[in-house]
Amino acid sequence: MLQNSSEQTQRWEQNHQKKIQLMRQMQGTVPQYQEILGFFEQVLQERKKYKFALCDLPDPLVPGNFALYESKLKKGIPLLDRNDIDFNNQIMAEHLFRLAQILKSRSRNKPADFSDAFLQKNNFNLKTFLTGKQLPLSGDPMDFLVSETINPVLAIYAEKIKDRIDFTKWNRGYCPVCGEFPMMAALSAETGKRKLISLSCGTEWEYSRVKCPYCENEDQQQLSYLYIENTPRYRIEICHQCRQYIKTIDLRQTTEPVDYEIENIITLHLDIIARENGYGDDGSVGETKPENAVYH
Ligand SMILES: [Zn+2]
Ligand SMILES: [Zn+2]
Repeated sequence: MLQNSSEQTQRWEQNHQKKIQLMRQMQGTVPQYQEILGFFEQVLQERKKYKFALCDLPDPLVPGNFALYESKLKKGIPLLDRNDIDFNNQIMAEHLFRLAQILKSRSRNKPADFSDAFLQKNNFNLKTFLTGKQLPLSGDPMDFLVSETINPVLAIYAEKIKDRIDFTKWNRGYCPVCGEFPMMAALSAETGKRKLISLSCGTEWEYSRVKCPYCENEDQQQLSYLYIENTPRYRIEICHQCRQYIKTIDLRQTTEPVDYEIENIITLHLDIIARENGYGDDGSVGETKPENAVYH
């Protein structure tokens, strides 16, 4: 059992309510993202149920061996090894099925992607599914189902240890807890320092502003950013060496409450701009430069 689990679930409930409220507010301010935010709200409701169910389980995570954590961090090894997650097939599979149902109900154009056979629970083994032997879906829907099943487990783990571990010496671009690269960065409202944010587990850590999180390049000639006209709140930091980018929110430019997961959704147009400029996974250079992107 988690320690103080009633305090913990109370905190989850409060955070959940805050997030839903913020998201509904956003639906009014960014109407182009209304539909996707509506979908995300359904996902959040499901995620809450899932986390509450997981909370009642015996602790599936690595025991709190803080000396081991410190020595891992010194060597640049993230704290959580995914092989240590003890799968609870029933809770996790039921969650996955409900997510698939949400996805199916929202999918207008590609109903064939969601085979009804997949939605049958009989003989379904989550671990086999996740290791790629039973994959009825491919691409984004699949990635979504997997991360929405695994990430809440990572987040519970991260939450348990974050106040007891010092991440200030972790000078790496990947997450000290789960090892994923950050989805977003933020510049502190007070100091302007940069922090990176793992949306997989919710961990945030400070990282040099003049170093690429992906390839650790520190050559200032190779680092720059794209900013978006009339939205000083956002910028896209780019590295010419590895051609990766990171969406960054400048907290000095906003007084609104910020939720990074919501920010990641309502800045999908920045991902498009970055990709059209040749940054991101495929690194292919687009033919046209979007009108509102300005090189700095
Ligand atoms: Zn993480
Ligand atoms: Zn780089």
